[in-house]
Amino acid sequence: MSAPVLSPRVKRLLPWIVAAFIAVVPIFAGAFTITLMNYIGIGAIVALGLVLLTGFGGLTSFGQAAFVGIGAYAAAWATAVMGLPPFAGLALALALTAAVALFLGATTLRLGGHYLPLSTIAWGIAIYYLFANIPSLGAHDGIRGIPPITVFGLSLAPNTSIYYLIFALVAEAMWLVSNLLDSREGRAIRSLRGGATMLASVGVDLFRMRMLIFVFAAVLAGLAGWLYAHMLRFISPSPFDVRASIEYLLMAMAGGAASIWGALVGSALVVFLKNWVQDILPHLSKNATQLEIVAFAVSLILLLQYARGGVLSLLGTFVPRDTTLPPAAATGLPHRTPPAKGSEILRVEGVTKRFGGLVAVNNVSFDLQAGEILGLIGPNGAGKSTLFNLVSGALGINSGKIVFLGEDMSNARQMDIARAGLARTFQHVKLRPGMTLVDNVLLGVYIRTQAGFGKCLLHLEREEERRATRVALDALDAVGLGGKAMELAGNLPLGNQRVLEIARALAADPILIVLDEPAAGLRKGEKDALAVLLKAIQARGVSILLVEHDMDFVMGLVDRIVVLDFGSKLMEGTPAEVRASPAVQEAYLGGVA
Ligand code: ADP
Ligand code: MG
Repeated sequence: MSAPVLSPRVKRLLPWIVAAFIAVVPIFAGAFTITLMNYIGIGAIVALGLVLLTGFGGLTSFGQAAFVGIGAYAAAWATAVMGLPPFAGLALALALTAAVALFLGATTLRLGGHYLPLSTIAWGIAIYYLFANIPSLGAHDGIRGIPPITVFGLSLAPNTSIYYLIFALVAEAMWLVSNLLDSREGRAIRSLRGGATMLASVGVDLFRMRMLIFVFAAVLAGLAGWLYAHMLRFISPSPFDVRASIEYLLMAMAGGAASIWGALVGSALVVFLKNWVQDILPHLSKNATQLEIVAFAVSLILLLQYARGGVLSLLGTFVPRDTTLPPAAATGLPHRTPPAKGSEILRVEGVTKRFGGLVAVNNVSFDLQAGEILGLIGPNGAGKSTLFNLVSGALGINSGKIVFLGEDMSNARQMDIARAGLARTFQHVKLRPGMTLVDNVLLGVYIRTQAGFGKCLLHLEREEERRATRVALDALDAVGLGGKAMELAGNLPLGNQRVLEIARALAADPILIVLDEPAAGLRKGEKDALAVLLKAIQARGVSILLVEHDMDFVMGLVDRIVVLDFGSKLMEGTPAEVRASPAVQEAYLGGVA
């Protein structure tokens, strides 16, 4: 690795250097530059919402300009039409954008896939025509005579005055989002993109999470709209159309889609580029407006081709990653009371799962007692992983019944089963490769912590976070990865990644751990260590259900075995009984991988 160019101290100073620079700009810059800077600040607030929503959350909105529009029109209507003070307009702007986003989110976020981008386009077009056709909102002419904001009797009419308000709010928004990302909710948000299955398995409510960031991003856009209206003192529908939404998306992506600073850098890039393009295009052609759209489309395509992570990701390689351990409390979080040894934890009753014509799991029944390690074996394609997905709620059953801790959990949601005390690992590991080991394990602690979105935004959950960190570090120690806490999960060898998944499961303080082929791809020594670890977990009172191919590994470890073959249960018994069974030997000789 090459030596980082920036020392950690310089990195910590960077925000203050930027802030100082922004503070002194009005001293030497002309009125035009200040106006451009104001647009940059307003754009950055909108782009920051998109960084959270799109860059981290993986949700694309083409309707962000429409939210800016609602904020701007609410501000204009409240002040210029109704004669209310600007801060009443602000309250209205934020409440309206939140309400509209809640409604849009409730109708589309459950559908997933492309519904959100499509519906935001439709919504962006609709709101534009709405603004343009309501007479009391000035129709195409818009609303004039919007008063300036006054703060403590001081009018922010001059461009240099509102400049300071805009950038104070940019800083505030960046602070809130950076707090959020560095919290329990933030870790979930950072995993939304590509990690949905894993998140559900650790008990995160995906719909709620997506809804929160969608509404939050909309509220930021509403705030930007309020600033915009009072800066220009006049508004019309055209700055809030779908083309403007694409510009905001471009800002979020140009700077660095998954970076808070990217919002500011991207906004600056787009505003300056647009200004420059508007300067030179008229010299090239009479159809400057159309050319402008083409120039933006081309830059968007180039960006997607060559700098997917944005400008900051190109510079990111020069900035060292912070590898200091996060602060941890002396004690962790309260534990669940485990059920009495020998009581029934899990009962699978005549469960069937079909994929079209294929019966992957056929009328399978078994149960599992507290304190037990139960092995599930069978040839490749026997239905083991499918059965695990049924038990953990990742898939729904077609018939039968699954009872976990005395409660009927057939077709219960994955997050509810996780919250009830079932933790799992995956046959194909599902980790966040770009997150540290501690952060990955902290995802497991999610269900044991309570701090909501608001507390995380304001960093009021630090005590709970320190306790959660203690739990995560202990879990890493327990699996032997304590020394690598601040490494990135993606840099671990496969064997360690499997063990890291177990640490994440352990950190959830589960009643039952479900492990899908934990020894696959491990070397002999690693397998022995894994067996010792699983015995230690059992000794803590946690029950284990595991699928494994390696017969030697299973035989020495488990208390009982269920054998699956072609989706059906072939037999059930102690390792010795299973080993002696002719039927099992035949199934294995026929099909073992
Ligand atoms: P195992 O884990 O025992 O190797 P699986 O549970 O992965 O077996 O698969 C059991 C059978 O179900 C296989 O024939 C597999 O192809 C099929 N199967 C598994 N998942 C799906 C799915 N999502 N859609 C269709 N078929 C599936
Ligand atoms: Mg499998």
